[in-house]
Amino acid sequence: MSLAVAAKPQLKPAVQGQKKDYSLIILGGGPAGLAAAIYALRAKLDVLLVEKMVLGGQASTTYHIDNYPGFPDGISGLDLAVKMSEQAEKLGLKFDWGNVDKIVHHKNRFEVHLPGKTLTCQALIFAAGAEPLKLNVPGEEEFRGRGVSYCATCDGPFYQDKNIMVIGGGNSAVEEALFLTRFAKKVGIVHRRDTLRADKLVADQAKNHPKIYFFWNSVLEKIVGSKNVESVVLREVKTNNTSSVPAEGVFVYIGTKPNSELIKPLVKQDDRGFIMTDEKMATATPGLFVAGDCRVKALRQVVTAVADGAIAAQSAREYLEGLTSQG
Ligand code: NAP
Repeated sequence: MSLAVAAKPQLKPAVQGQKKDYSLIILGGGPAGLAAAIYALRAKLDVLLVEKMVLGGQASTTYHIDNYPGFPDGISGLDLAVKMSEQAEKLGLKFDWGNVDKIVHHKNRFEVHLPGKTLTCQALIFAAGAEPLKLNVPGEEEFRGRGVSYCATCDGPFYQDKNIMVIGGGNSAVEEALFLTRFAKKVGIVHRRDTLRADKLVADQAKNHPKIYFFWNSVLEKIVGSKNVESVVLREVKTNNTSSVPAEGVFVYIGTKPNSELIKPLVKQDDRGFIMTDEKMATATPGLFVAGDCRVKALRQVVTAVADGAIAAQSAREYLEGLTSQG
């Protein structure tokens, strides 16, 4: 069982939403959604938060967050998520668990469709986050959960004294590779170029780590095994030479894609599907605000997600006040 799933009871607020119509619904319980909830609750808005899985979002699966101000020794993603959800709960957060399957906009009103029920609201903050990109190579889907993972915090402990490959060269890949050295015998970082995208501080830590080694200018072609993963086939992109390397675990960190499908008809998106907003988090649809990793932005971090959430809540409040003054 993953740590994220095991943690769900701690992150589940006590107060279930009872009614169907709200002034504001926040979709997504990651840092952006929780910050929006805290600001909306403090402004006394009639608000409901809808989350499909675990409060805390992707951040709750991060082993250690070192760059969120206020925690000089860092904090685990799970602890930060618990603190944020406790703060929202203390303010009276009401929530609904469910997988939203459709969002419909009529004049001044949104319908949020979940299996078996429809909620309505005048303003909607969409903070559905992003999910890991897949490599789409043979073996990736087949061995998912049997050697292929997208969450080192969740699955790292299963790889005690094993050989692990981490794919990618960004902050996520390098930070999670460092985390995986706690368990693994060796961690190979497979990167398609010869320079890491990750920040220099973590890049240097990885380069100096005795358990980490690099496959530069290399891509993963295939994941091979019988019951579980046993090896990977790598291709050196300059020579096109392929090699088979023994590995029991493959952790993929090649970036994220936005969970933006649900509101596609209501917003403008960039070519990767990230949603365009203005600086008030407003979209092309009045009353629809977007916060966090699913929007177009320069830096996807917990600190920027909570800032988005705060701004979105403030903008939703102004929007709702405008509706009231129009009568
Ligand atoms: P990212 O920064 O987009 O990096 C993705 C990495 O995967 C890049 O090195 C990229 O190679 C590689 N890649 C992409 N597609 C690939 C493919 N098909 N095959 C092989 N390699 C591929 O993604 P991320 O690391 O998940 O980070 C996402 C955002 O969160 C970034 O803004 C990052 O800075 C931030 N973040 C920050 C922290 C922190 O500050 N502590 C921690 C985690 C994430 P190229 O370099 O060649 O493009």
